[in-house]
Amino acid sequence: MSLRSIFDAAEIRAEFQKAGISTHFITFIWKHVIQNPNCEWHEVPSLPSAAYSLLRTKFKPLTSTLDSVFDSTDEVTTKLLIKLQNGAFVEAVVMRYDSRLGKYGGDPRPGGPRATLCISSQVGCKMGCKFCATGSMGFKNNLSSGEIVEQLVHALRLSHIRNVVFMGMGEPLNNYAALVEAIHVMTGPPFRLSLKKITVSTVGIIHAIKKLPTDIPNLNLAVSLHAPVQDIRCQIMPAARAFPLEKLMDTLREYQKKCQQKIFIEYIMLDGVNDEEQHAHQLGNLLETFQVVVNLIPFNPIGTLSNFRSSSEQRVTRFQKILRGTYNIRTTVRKQMGQDISGACGQLVVNLPEKRSIGHDHLTDIEDLHL
Ligand code: SAH
Ligand code: SF4
Repeated sequence: MSLRSIFDAAEIRAEFQKAGISTHFITFIWKHVIQNPNCEWHEVPSLPSAAYSLLRTKFKPLTSTLDSVFDSTDEVTTKLLIKLQNGAFVEAVVMRYDSRLGKYGGDPRPGGPRATLCISSQVGCKMGCKFCATGSMGFKNNLSSGEIVEQLVHALRLSHIRNVVFMGMGEPLNNYAALVEAIHVMTGPPFRLSLKKITVSTVGIIHAIKKLPTDIPNLNLAVSLHAPVQDIRCQIMPAARAFPLEKLMDTLREYQKKCQQKIFIEYIMLDGVNDEEQHAHQLGNLLETFQVVVNLIPFNPIGTLSNFRSSSEQRVTRFQKILRGTYNIRTTVRKQMGQDISGACGQLVVNLPEKRSIGHDHLTDIEDLHL
């Protein structure tokens, strides 16, 4: 029987309670593991003796291992290849923000250096979006909440993580219980990330979005809309049939009413598919009455897996101008970074390192908007 991750919060709590051990020790144990990821249980000081035997028989400090680390020459992006207990690989990407890069005109960044971590929630994905390499590999398995949190533990060895975005492999809202638990752990002691700095990206799983305000009030939501009308959405995202655009927009309106915060809209720019002037107007009309930030994403070609082409810079600019000028919608264009290490949100193909991801793009913008 494989051992559970100590960061599987519900399991460790239940086991401690069953054994009559105070759950207060859990934060202390987590802190020790974060500082000593390779520790053995007997090295954690001052626990009740029953805790040591329980930990040894049922839990591991970390169930995943940091297989390799790739630094981009851009000096900003680092990709972590993480091997799960079942042998599958997932990837997490750290993006550091540093005033030396001149982003703030050479001035020190307000709040000091910080980093954003892009996290995976599943191995593969069953949503099958036609432009996404992860989608082409199908669904392999869900990550446990502990495996999700462990990506943060690995990343903390490299950088001071302030922001987390669920934009790695998988559809986070299809792994709902683990996602909710992982976010609770990340925002509680000892991690204490601010919920304002956590963003979940989804294709729009309507029933799950409806539950979110109860389970994690005020979570930042990014919705991969990618098309302004139902038929184009269905062509490029088969899951759109199960989650019709009109219903999705109604659900987002409700979400916005409850959470009173802007929603991020992701829109991948595909040449000749969804990047015409009329699409910009349709999108503008659709979003006009929402508080949103639209993030236009240059498409990263995924080799022979699809026939899509990236929109030209001119078309992206034209699209952005219409949304901004005619509809007064805040619209950013996602920067592409770290191409040399080919780490990409949503683009991991198979679980062998040498065959892995094909392109790269990462948000500088969504996390910037959290300031
Ligand atoms: N499943 C979630 C989160 C992971 S994908 C979702 O779809 O939102 C994270 C982002 O990467 C999504 O907006 C997704 O549409 C985008 N993406 C997927 N494939 C891409 C590609 N080839 N080029 C650019 N962005 C891509
Ligand atoms: Fe899954 Fe997101 Fe890729 Fe679609 S874009 S297949 S939902 S990971």
